[in-house]
Amino acid sequence: MLVGIMGGTFDPIHTGHLIAAERARVEAGLDEVWLMPANVPPHKPNAPKATARQRFDMVCLAAEGNAFFRPLDIEIGKGGVSYSIDTIELLSSQHPDTDFAYIIGADMVQYLPQWHRIDDIVRHIRFIGLARPGYELDMDTIPIHIRSRVTIVPMPLVEISSTAIREERLKGKSVRYLVTDAVHNYMEVNHLYES
Ligand code: ATP
Ligand code: MG
Repeated sequence: MLVGIMGGTFDPIHTGHLIAAERARVEAGLDEVWLMPANVPPHKPNAPKATARQRFDMVCLAAEGNAFFRPLDIEIGKGGVSYSIDTIELLSSQHPDTDFAYIIGADMVQYLPQWHRIDDIVRHIRFIGLARPGYELDMDTIPIHIRSRVTIVPMPLVEISSTAIREERLKGKSVRYLVTDAVHNYMEVNHLYES
């Protein structure tokens, strides 16, 4: 079995994430995609605005209705800073017969050389990279032993980010359709990202 892992802060999960996950699934022939919120992401200066539980709830709501999507709470269950190498080692031991690939957008592809223990990570797993507006997919700048583990799959450019969604909500603007209806309702009911 080949499983795509899509990690993220998902603060909140939006349709850009879902389109990327679905594209990666189809183009790379993944059997399933596991959507995995980080507890504390290693690379972000600010803590997530929503709690880990709320971010996971929204991932569950967003995954509903796609039989290939599965929410995974392994990192928020573990707590602390979520380093991919720890997660990969844990998943590999729990699922010895499953191959894993990480699904990442262009900003994360660029950032790969700086991932904690990237040389160990690329020995374990491959990456599926997707285009994202504002970020170059300039593979030449990435060392060959990392670059050779990344497969780029086509993706329509989707100019949606969680940061922009949080900013719009703070200003009282509508973000409907940038997230699924269920996620939108959840944000409204829980007053997420409001001033
Ligand atoms: P933030 O603005 O808070 O960083 P984000 O929109 O970048 O949020 P993340 O949770 O940081 O979302 O991203 C999780 C993964 O999804 C990353 O690999 C990121 O590159 C990818 N991703 C997010 N948005 C898009 C998009 N619009 N198109 C393609 N990939 C995306
Ligand atoms: Mg991001």
